[in-house]
Amino acid sequence: MDIKYDFSSEFAIPISYGSSEVIETGKWGFEKPETAFMTAPCQETCPAGNAIPQFLYLAGEGRSKEALEAILKENPFPGVCGRVCFHPCENNCHRGQYDEVVSISAMERYIFDVTSNHHPDIHPISNADSKQVAVVGSGPAGLSAAYFLRLLGYRVTLFEARKELGGVMRWGIPEYRLPKSILKEEIERILQLSIDVKTGEKVGKEIPFEELDRFNAVFLSSGTGLSLSLGIEGEDLKKVWRGGDILDRINSGDKPRIGKEIIVIGGGNTAMDVARSALRLGSRVIVAYRRTRAEMPAIEDEIREAEEEGVRFEFLLLPVKISVLKNRRIRVKFQRMRLRGWDQSNRHKAIPIKGEFLTLEADGLIKAVGEGVDLSWIPETLSKNSLINVNSSLTTSNPKIFAGGDAIDQPRTIVTAIASGKKAAISIDLYLRGCTSEDVFSKIRVGNKGALSMEAYLSGRNGGNWSELKEVISYPQLNTLYFEHSKRVEMSKLNRNKALKGFSEVNLGLTSDEAGISASRCFSCGTCNYCYNCYFFCPEGLISLDPLHQTKTVDLDHCKGCGTCAKVCPRYVVLMKELS
Ligand SMILES: Cc1cc2nc3c(=O)[nH]c(=O)nc-3n(C[C@H](O)[C@H](O)[C@H](O)COP(=O)(O)OP(=O)(O)OC[C@H]3O[C@@H](n4cnc5c(N)ncnc54)[C@H](O)[C@@H]3O)c2cc1C
Ligand code: SF4
Ligand code: SF4
Repeated sequence: MDIKYDFSSEFAIPISYGSSEVIETGKWGFEKPETAFMTAPCQETCPAGNAIPQFLYLAGEGRSKEALEAILKENPFPGVCGRVCFHPCENNCHRGQYDEVVSISAMERYIFDVTSNHHPDIHPISNADSKQVAVVGSGPAGLSAAYFLRLLGYRVTLFEARKELGGVMRWGIPEYRLPKSILKEEIERILQLSIDVKTGEKVGKEIPFEELDRFNAVFLSSGTGLSLSLGIEGEDLKKVWRGGDILDRINSGDKPRIGKEIIVIGGGNTAMDVARSALRLGSRVIVAYRRTRAEMPAIEDEIREAEEEGVRFEFLLLPVKISVLKNRRIRVKFQRMRLRGWDQSNRHKAIPIKGEFLTLEADGLIKAVGEGVDLSWIPETLSKNSLINVNSSLTTSNPKIFAGGDAIDQPRTIVTAIASGKKAAISIDLYLRGCTSEDVFSKIRVGNKGALSMEAYLSGRNGGNWSELKEVISYPQLNTLYFEHSKRVEMSKLNRNKALKGFSEVNLGLTSDEAGISASRCFSCGTCNYCYNCYFFCPEGLISLDPLHQTKTVDLDHCKGCGTCAKVCPRYVVLMKELS
């Protein structure tokens, strides 16, 4: 029989003398929604384990100071990394599978730039048994280790051979990529934690190595320090310089006279920095590299910018002899090369083409073919294969001596140096408290690519109760239906003519509008960003969200387990779990 309702007249509805909330409809369901955050792929790929979706969310909400504090939990150098990190995080951004990757490093820089006078609320934990740790070398590895060791409550003494702190960030990378004022501000923030700094004191020279014995633990982060040579006739001629020396002079305020035409040999960061600096000193520059562009070890951004600025590249050339001409110019004889097979590092091998040579002339030549580790000041037992030798917890053969950065066997980049400083600080803390490290590392990892979380470490450090590891979210787990297509935002740049007139910073950062767009492009993979989808779609209105305190609650007493919230969550944060 068909039931017909007449809505024009009054109709009966069930009523109760009490609130209907007493009827706990939640007991009818078989499944309940659970909010569980996952690790975003960008975060997994950042060696420092930066909380990228969190800082993008906070910056997008105009809460840049909180965004800065979120970064500083894992990385003391947002201003540096936002400028010169090779940003592996962006290579793995899920947005790249949808349209174009999010401008993560530009956002990291933006957060630093707009909070420049903010003194973040970071304090060392109380460590009653505060022991003393020595850190040797003040590059990104040493400064990061000092920062995290201080946060862990240790008394830290930092030894630096040079008069100023910063390592390659200070003496290698030129001003047009990393202004000294930015580095200074980041270093000052670290030193505010009360680190005892000894500059102009080289361990092994002014300070005997044995003097480090008085410390409870030692971290060695002395970087490379040796320029590799070409091993050819003529490389000691007057107009042949080492790339590191030229950059050092420029970064000390000098303007070396290198001539109108310069040949730079090499394909790494030093070669690119020296070539672009030579352009700024008024020279025409040819970079000669023995492989092709694809094999160049320099950061891609740097190669592209060098090309845009007018550096000429000549590939598949190996210098074999340098000589001086009567007019005092130099002549370089190159062997022509071709690619064949692969070397141990999985790069194409360059082999000579028999009998084929090329000659180039210039006013000077700058060698930038790599750096070696200076081991002359450490006991022989600590080194192997021309590097400081460490195990997976960064411990050397001496259990109280640890090492990191460019001096050990790891990729030579700033963010990996920072990551090793953090890892060493955790290792040292575990060593000084008599705990084993491997077990702990597996509990505080960010994904599966080696990054560790200091925040996770601190959360479980005292009781040993680590929070559950978060899986890495895959692209198909996202519900991209809710996202609109949009273009990646790039930073604007100084006009080429202006850029080449001096050493002013080339990349100009994002405006606040551009930063807002960049932040909103992030899918926030695996992390709730309070988009309110679940709130709006829940048919029972049982979800409460508090973006300010970043909390979300579901009234489970009345949730029937329909699963709508999970279906509409774009970022796989709400999952339906069967009730037992
Ligand atoms: C020119 C150049 C440009 C680069 N550009 C980039 C880039 O854009 N992005 C990027 O990610 N990476 C870049 N890199 C690589 C990156 O800079 C390094 O990987 C990183 O700086 C290594 O950090 P570190 O702390 O191990 O060593 P370093 O930065 O080399 O610092 C080591 C410090 O230890 C000090 N020291 C050495 N021996 C002693 C001793 N016995 N006693 C006391 N102090 C000592 C040194 O004076 C120095 O200050 C670049 C490298 C170069 C050379
Ligand atoms: S430190 Fe480098 S890898 Fe990490 S978030 Fe910043 S730009 Fe990306
Ligand atoms: S969309 Fe956002 S959270 Fe997802 S990988 Fe890219 S930057 Fe990271």
